[in-house]
Amino acid sequence: MSQSLPTIGHLIHGENVTGEHRSQDVFNPATGVAEKRLLLADKATVEQAIASAEKAYPAWRATPPLKRARVMSKLKNVLEANAEKICALLTAEHGKVAGDAMGELQRGIENVEYASYATELLKGEYTRNVGPGIDSWSEHQPLGVTAGITPFNFPVMVPLWMWPMAIACGNTFVLKPSERDPSSALLVAQLALEAGLPPGVLNVVNGDKEAVDTLLDDARVQAISFVGSTSIAEYIYSRGCAKGKRVQALGGAKNHAVVMPDADIDNAVTALMGAAYGSCGERCMAIPIVVAVGDKTADAIVAGLKAEIAKMKVGPGTDAKNDMGPLVTKAHFEKVKGYVDQGVKEGATLVVDGRGVKVAGHENGYFLGACLFDNVKPGMVTYNEEIFGPVLGIVRVNTLEEAMKLINDHEYGNGTCIFTRDGEAARYFSDHILVGMVGVNVPLPVPVAYHSFGGWKRSLFGDLHAYGPDAVRFYTKRKTITQRWPSAGVREGAMFSFPSNR
Ligand code: NAD
Repeated sequence: MSQSLPTIGHLIHGENVTGEHRSQDVFNPATGVAEKRLLLADKATVEQAIASAEKAYPAWRATPPLKRARVMSKLKNVLEANAEKICALLTAEHGKVAGDAMGELQRGIENVEYASYATELLKGEYTRNVGPGIDSWSEHQPLGVTAGITPFNFPVMVPLWMWPMAIACGNTFVLKPSERDPSSALLVAQLALEAGLPPGVLNVVNGDKEAVDTLLDDARVQAISFVGSTSIAEYIYSRGCAKGKRVQALGGAKNHAVVMPDADIDNAVTALMGAAYGSCGERCMAIPIVVAVGDKTADAIVAGLKAEIAKMKVGPGTDAKNDMGPLVTKAHFEKVKGYVDQGVKEGATLVVDGRGVKVAGHENGYFLGACLFDNVKPGMVTYNEEIFGPVLGIVRVNTLEEAMKLINDHEYGNGTCIFTRDGEAARYFSDHILVGMVGVNVPLPVPVAYHSFGGWKRSLFGDLHAYGPDAVRFYTKRKTITQRWPSAGVREGAMFSFPSNR
């Protein structure tokens, strides 16, 4: 670890905070070179951030919703103006290619845009005369200090799923980004200050388990949003709930795409290429498994994918001609490569082997070419586990029912899709599949910002989905007020029966 590298610290009460902490290197995955040193927050630093959020809360809660929402409108413009700078950080630390980085940022900005409509979403419900001379309304009150813990794979977008709406609802926030690619989330938070967010309303602490556990255990934190792997999501959910917090914890995935015999195969193949290999397969909505109905369908899909993979360009995300960049870290590269080795051992047919890919001038980068397996079977590790890399497996079945049983039996239920021209099959599939987000001829059915995002089964712990209307529900408490102003001089006797409109 080099001491001479630029350091990345924390943003607490509008100030960049450094100080003496443990630290770790942040690597450029395209070169394998450590370019920055990340300070890992200790308990005291996280507590400082929580204290800052607690201090900022009363004034922010009292700020009219329109003024809070206006910061989000301004932030949208500031983010658009800084798009290239943000995306350059995404590519430098995550490795994703420029076009993909821009897509991620745009999806994040759409969440900021939705949060700028918070006045409309927070209006509540009102009924006059629920009883004689009695009016009643329900309002959404903020929770207080809220927190978010985010994964490496969407370093900008996932934080923007969380804090813009939490803050627009009147809460304050502490964000703990992924330690693997932390700079873009920090820059966005600094830009929020530029957009008019008062100090302390949004704080960023960089760190690892110590920082996360401090957020989980601190009684001042009212709610936690988490996105990451399933084992950690389950830990966050159980520990956070045990501490009396509201928790939503989104976990991993193994999304299956079903290709029916009547599907437009060319369209399915191009759609699958992006869904399997886009962002190097490091998306929780990526498609790592294709369930082909019928051998003829499977043969056509394999042939089509093989031809498309041969045209793919793998290289650093800074070069616009590349389709796929490197994996995020050396450890992740080794893990994904290990899954390919395992698939071969388990007897799946490796149709395309990306393990030998070398990128000239980037020999130490974490590049793995696209891998394609045929004859993958349930029970294989390659089938059961989330690989989170550019590895696509084909499972062959004979019927739609067989395909659906596979999906419904799988431990994850994040996303899925069906390619078909048969409306009846598509409708039956969407109706009966045990998955939270479903596409029909749409390979990545990631809901837009004004719908909510969430999987079923072990892809989500908690009740409410992320962003969209569910975010307003998650980051607020409903209070219902029933009000009567009796006329002076009119006095009723004591009433012992339960009040009703009988
Ligand atoms: P991860 O679980 O390793 O890390 C996520 C966060 O948890 C990070 O901020 C990390 O610092 C923290 N963390 C890690 N280990 C911890 C521990 N032992 N105790 C406390 N905190 C800990 O996930 P990742 O590798 O960064 O991201 C990839 C995973 O995220 C994949 O499984 C992917 O499917 C999932 N993901 C899910 C969604 C979704 O919406 N369901 C979206 C994006 C990513």
